[in-house]
Amino acid sequence: MDKQAWHALPPDDTLTRLGSQAAGLDTHTAQERHLTHGANRLPAPPKRSPVIRFLLQFHNILIYVLLAAAAVTALLDHWVDTSVIVAVVLVNAIIGFLQEGKAEQAMAAIRQMLAPQAAVLRDGKRTTIAGEMLVPGDIVLLEAGDKVPADLRLLQAYGLQVQEAILTGESVPVDKQVESVPADAALGDRTNLAFSGTTVTSGQAQGVVVAIGGHTEIGRISGLLAGVETLTTPLVEQMSVFAKWLTLFILTVAALILAFGYFVQHQEFAELFMAVVGLSVAAIPEGLPAVLTITLAVGVQAMAKRNAIVRRLPAIETIGAVSVICTDKTGTLTRNEMLVASVITVGQAYSVDGEGYSPQGNIEPQPKEAATVTEIGLAALLCNDAELKQHADTWQVEGDPMEGALLAFAAKTGHHHRSDWTRTDVIPFDSRHKFMASLHHNHTQHAHIIVKGAPEVLLAMCQQQRSADGQAQALDSAYWQQQAETIAARGQRVLAFASRTVPPHHTVLDMTDVQEHLTLLGLVGLIDPPRPEAVAAIAECHRAGIRVKMITGDHAATAAAIGQQVGLQYPDKVLTGGELDLLNDAELASAVLDHDVFARTTPEHKLRLVTALQAHGLIVAMTGDGVNDAPALKRADAGIAMGNKGSAAAKEAAELVLADDNFASIVAAVREGRTVYDNIKKVISWTLPTSTGEAAVIVLALLLGMLLPITPLQILWVNMITAATLGLALAFEPTESNTMQRPPRPRDQPILSGGLLWHIVLVTTLFLCGVFAIYAYALDQGYSLELARTLVLNTLVVMEIFHLFFIRNLYSTSLTWQAVRGTKMVWLAVVVVIVAQAAITYLPALQAVFGTQAVGLADGLLVLGMGVVLFVLVELEKQIRLHL
Ligand code: ATP
Repeated sequence: MDKQAWHALPPDDTLTRLGSQAAGLDTHTAQERHLTHGANRLPAPPKRSPVIRFLLQFHNILIYVLLAAAAVTALLDHWVDTSVIVAVVLVNAIIGFLQEGKAEQAMAAIRQMLAPQAAVLRDGKRTTIAGEMLVPGDIVLLEAGDKVPADLRLLQAYGLQVQEAILTGESVPVDKQVESVPADAALGDRTNLAFSGTTVTSGQAQGVVVAIGGHTEIGRISGLLAGVETLTTPLVEQMSVFAKWLTLFILTVAALILAFGYFVQHQEFAELFMAVVGLSVAAIPEGLPAVLTITLAVGVQAMAKRNAIVRRLPAIETIGAVSVICTDKTGTLTRNEMLVASVITVGQAYSVDGEGYSPQGNIEPQPKEAATVTEIGLAALLCNDAELKQHADTWQVEGDPMEGALLAFAAKTGHHHRSDWTRTDVIPFDSRHKFMASLHHNHTQHAHIIVKGAPEVLLAMCQQQRSADGQAQALDSAYWQQQAETIAARGQRVLAFASRTVPPHHTVLDMTDVQEHLTLLGLVGLIDPPRPEAVAAIAECHRAGIRVKMITGDHAATAAAIGQQVGLQYPDKVLTGGELDLLNDAELASAVLDHDVFARTTPEHKLRLVTALQAHGLIVAMTGDGVNDAPALKRADAGIAMGNKGSAAAKEAAELVLADDNFASIVAAVREGRTVYDNIKKVISWTLPTSTGEAAVIVLALLLGMLLPITPLQILWVNMITAATLGLALAFEPTESNTMQRPPRPRDQPILSGGLLWHIVLVTTLFLCGVFAIYAYALDQGYSLELARTLVLNTLVVMEIFHLFFIRNLYSTSLTWQAVRGTKMVWLAVVVVIVAQAAITYLPALQAVFGTQAVGLADGLLVLGMGVVLFVLVELEKQIRLHL
């Protein structure tokens, strides 16, 4: 499409030019345009080619060292060693390459799940479509928190403000309006355009799509596109730095040993050098970075399966450490399937029944004609942005579920269509002022303002109430307050309705119009049952030492009733937003611990609550959906946005997005987060002692000037065969059974803790003892050096296998059927290792290469016994530690 000065055109001309109309495109035209104009997406950043990705696997100091070792062995004509080292490097690179590919796919799938949606008018009806399906001429509806899905020429705007920093660098939101502006206006002055990628901070609007995809303003500066996300977290980063230092350290030790052996012990250089190469290859944890990355990738996928989509990878670690979860109520703890159950007018209480959002249902007692309840029905229909749609037998809401419930109720009072009344202006709902107002005109020159919102807020705006016979009378605040309390105590959400007649020329609605002269019509109570799985999830949190706090905009009594139903610890003590405002930060910090229910809050309160909780050193997860929740989500250690009802602004501020808005998914994510952390710890706890154990054998032998109990070539073999199998299996470990019974891990617990260092020392010592014991035994039996070394080689591998089984259960005994049964990955790894060991021990061809000899049955059992002894010793040590 040509570059047009759309901002200079009046709205009607824009629509004509684009072949569109105020009611939107019809589906057929939209489909045709989609074919000609293509999808509304920015050109994807160029992908790294597989060759580059494969080569990048070698771009690592650990691998450089190995490659250098391979080169030197080749120069020394030790071709077999060269090929084994190259094989170690290749196996590592191939696994890294394949897993990284999988991880990238998983990330792409996640990005897909977060793909933006747009509310549009098609065939005159509001529907939600994928942002990619927008075409020029589509009419898009915007509200606070939305990300503008394409470049739009605004047709209607009510208090619309847009944050355009990504285009103009201006961080203050700008006001938007519909009047034309001069053709030469700068980008920032085109106030009647909403640009793709910018965020609506407040208000409501409708606009027609003038440009999509690469033709939008943001498309022109696609250099701004976010770079490729790499799969890493602070912990993993820390580990790769650690691995680099370890490599340097190993090289230094190797150099010292080389010097010591050559100059002091006068050993032959070539042989000594090969031993030092073996030592380096053994000690360098070359597989560690790859396996850690894989562990993360597995975790991200596991979370996505549980409906928790990780937007920023470091969050995986934080989520696992969460010690308090602050959650919304509606839709997260409850189902957000609302139903109007009661209506109160002056002197009359009605009960309403029905199924879901179906417009069928009865009102008891049956209202008389022109009763106020019918007027409330009309108000509920008009002061409402939602639409109901019938799919097969079920009715679904397009828009806010509460408003959907109000539509179903309106239908039960006989009000089905809005067509008699045109909406001329609106003050959109905002969780800060807690009401919504709309202005309506009909054909007979009547005009009304309708307001719906929280009862306290509306009571403060009304002076009058509608009597049973439709007359206006003085407001009886006490009556309404008491009625609101009664409905709320049943756990129902309470909403008040008020209206006011205005002269027909009144076409603009502003705040002063709703400050006075309103007449209260009545109250509506909506039920929203708790999710059964949320009850179970809260109990699980309590067992896991995680506190749960409910922060809601609802009435205190409603909040307390729901808090009770879902099993919060202190449901009866409610702190309201008003009370909270009276506390200073120190007072709030002390109050926050013994309250679990916060009611009538605004998003600003969420921010204060996060800060107050963090002051106690707690790691806070906070949920949110609205644009105003973004600061609290950013401030929280783990910001969690709702995938369904959440605004784009909240999703962008969050680390985690819940695909199903369900509290139980948060808890599942915490469980997965803890599992990932455990598995990272397991990978490290298995890899480091294994490497140091192997290295220590060679160092000790060299220092003692004795014949090596295992040749460098054999060490290379052990490394190749175990790192890629046993180490990798740990990345796929399932959650341990007591994972959610432990208290949360302290925020800055180092991974290389004293405990782990002790474990490294213990296992290294046991490896040394095992290796030298079997070596001594073999020599004592008068076995050949080859056979003795074969026994040592197998002992090392067997001990590594048993060590693996020990590591699988870091926090509980390994002596359970569950633990022995293992997982498919573990047994697959073990089988591969055993077959490989059998091959190197018994196949003549391999015997010739690796200098091994067949092992007899008794000795084989002895080797197995060494593994068992190692297992028993480390397990005993763990049991003692666990019971101390
Ligand atoms: P929760 O934490 O339970 O999800 P919330 O914090 O999102 O709730 P809000 O949406 O801020 O709560 O709603 C607060 C109050 O504002 C409600 O109790 C209701 O009285 C009123 N309210 C909510 N939605 C609307 C709306 N669309 N129009 C008018 N009033 C509303």
